[in-house]
Amino acid sequence: MTQRMAQRLDTTEDPAGGWQQRMSGRILGTTALARPLVAVAVTLAMLGGSWLIVYNLGGADEAPSLVFCVAIIFAGVRFGALGALVTALAATVLAGPLLPADTATGAAQEFHRWATRGLFFVAIGLFVTLFLYEGRPLRASALATIQMHRLLRRALAAGDLEVHYQPIFDIHGRQKRIVGAEALARWRHPKAGLVGPDRFIPVAERTELIHDLGEMVLREAARQAGRWSELIGRGRFVVGVNLSARQLTDPDLVARVRQCLDDTHVDPRRLCFEITETAFMRDTEISADRLAELRVLGCGIWVDDFGTGYSSLAHVHRFPIDTIKIDSGFVKHIVHDDRAASIVSTIIELTHTLGYQALAEGIETAEQLQILKTMGCDLAQGYLLAMPGPAEETTSALMAQAAKKRRHSQTRAP
Ligand code: C2E
Ligand code: MG
Ligand code: MG
Repeated sequence: MTQRMAQRLDTTEDPAGGWQQRMSGRILGTTALARPLVAVAVTLAMLGGSWLIVYNLGGADEAPSLVFCVAIIFAGVRFGALGALVTALAATVLAGPLLPADTATGAAQEFHRWATRGLFFVAIGLFVTLFLYEGRPLRASALATIQMHRLLRRALAAGDLEVHYQPIFDIHGRQKRIVGAEALARWRHPKAGLVGPDRFIPVAERTELIHDLGEMVLREAARQAGRWSELIGRGRFVVGVNLSARQLTDPDLVARVRQCLDDTHVDPRRLCFEITETAFMRDTEISADRLAELRVLGCGIWVDDFGTGYSSLAHVHRFPIDTIKIDSGFVKHIVHDDRAASIVSTIIELTHTLGYQALAEGIETAEQLQILKTMGCDLAQGYLLAMPGPAEETTSALMAQAAKKRRHSQTRAP
């Protein structure tokens, strides 16, 4: 993502960020509409007005001094706890020593009466600010989720969500070969540009929208897998589709996949589902059943982000798996951190012992790739090898690979 685009995502046009701040500010009445000085003047006017009202109604014994609470609440909303506290103390003085018990006689109030009222004012101020400000992040995040969900639903209906692919390479031998690609959702936002899934998948996952979004990605990936199958013939190639925990526990998942396979006529072996350990572990019984059914259809099952979840290979071996994707967090450190290198090496060994393939994610440097090859890692994915991009980029890479292979076999032919 370019720097300019990243900046743009941080502006108010960002479908997730800017709106949240503006909206939460407006709802809570804390926007910069009222400048601080005006707000102070309004608070003072309210305090003065309250004093005049109570005085004219006959004094503290005759009129309810609760009218001072309006100023305290206003200050709390506008300035927070400190503002509320200062205003409550000012109200205590105004409604105490500065207000006669009876205006006609000019009799002073007893100390314990105005002191008790002062404590009440302070309590009101703190209660209001606690209620407003403590709950604010929660309310703001709930509002942002609702708005994001609405935008996302519209984007999905308008066809603004698309699928990009990142090639996956076989790194055995001297020549690396593209043997698959991961389907990654992207949102082409009219103002923010290309928005990555980290910004919208979590919102979709909290609602039913993940099912429609997931189905769009699945259908697109299946169609694309069909096109690539025609291109490479009987060669090895598989397209990875990410499945979230909510999708995995969806009772309709298998029917959706079966329908998609029927509609696109793609060979099920060309598709695999990437599922994180955390998603597996959410409901192990359901997960095991669903995965077994997907396997019966002929699709592959890959464990995504291995090493970051709550489980381990000890649990994972119970599921019908083909490939373990080692999380980029480990790969990132294998060059300079011996412990990270040991962990990766152990995962690769265990993976092979259990009969699975090992795929390293997030390879960014030639050194990382070399170490992983030495460790016996089978498959690799990362910016060093290929960036995620539109399907055409993977198609061009596959065509270049096929042309190279043809040239190679021609030069070797007698
Ligand atoms: P993931 O499945 O682990 O996908 C790999 C992520 O790593 C992708 O991020 C990819 O662009 C990024 N990546 C690839 N190579 C490198 C590298 O060398 N360095 C670094 N730093 N990153 C690299 P992306 O596309 O932002 O996707 C993030 C996550 O969003 C995915 O993680 C996946 O969990 C989720 N996601 C994406 N598409 C879908 C989808 O269609 N459905 C669901 N449920 N989740 C999706
Ligand atoms: Mg993945
Ligand atoms: Mg991953």
